[in-house]
Amino acid sequence: MAVLPILTVPHPLLEQKARPVRDDEFGPELHKRLQDMAETMYAAPGVGLAGPQIGDLRRILCCDVTEERDDDGRREKGKELRFICNPEIIESSKDLFRWEEGCLSVPEFWEYFERPRVVTVRYKDTLGIEHTETFSDYPSIIVQHEMDHLEGEVILNKVSRLKRGRYLKKVKKWAKAEQAQLV
Ligand SMILES: [Zn+2]
Repeated sequence: MAVLPILTVPHPLLEQKARPVRDDEFGPELHKRLQDMAETMYAAPGVGLAGPQIGDLRRILCCDVTEERDDDGRREKGKELRFICNPEIIESSKDLFRWEEGCLSVPEFWEYFERPRVVTVRYKDTLGIEHTETFSDYPSIIVQHEMDHLEGEVILNKVSRLKRGRYLKKVKKWAKAEQAQLV
């Protein structure tokens, strides 16, 4: 397994719509790609990662939807890891859930969003086997957030222009500081 570099805004691949995984792409190679994505996600650390975030423009994502916490209140990693390909939301609740979201592609940025509290998702695993699963509350937010990435949608594009502009200015400053260190 391997930890892959995660693309961050304003990388243009993050704004591209991903394409469906083709029938002939399911199998061990795709599974390995998702395993690498999971390793990358846990190393970050994060709870979800979508293909475009590592420059793979296919409709693939991994997420850890574990809700239980250990005695220290930390999430028990890896218990509910999902490899999701070609997902489709087939039902979503009218009831909304407000959650402060962050994104591995938008470091040091958090914002509250409202999304349906419950979604039922039809997807294929890495072998091409179809599943239908219902996610509620926090796991539901994770899956919806990752599915947005497949549409080229990043949370930074859902906030006001002012807030986005301020953040992008910060990103430029970080890049400059990094360059200065490299010289
Ligand atoms: Zn994200």
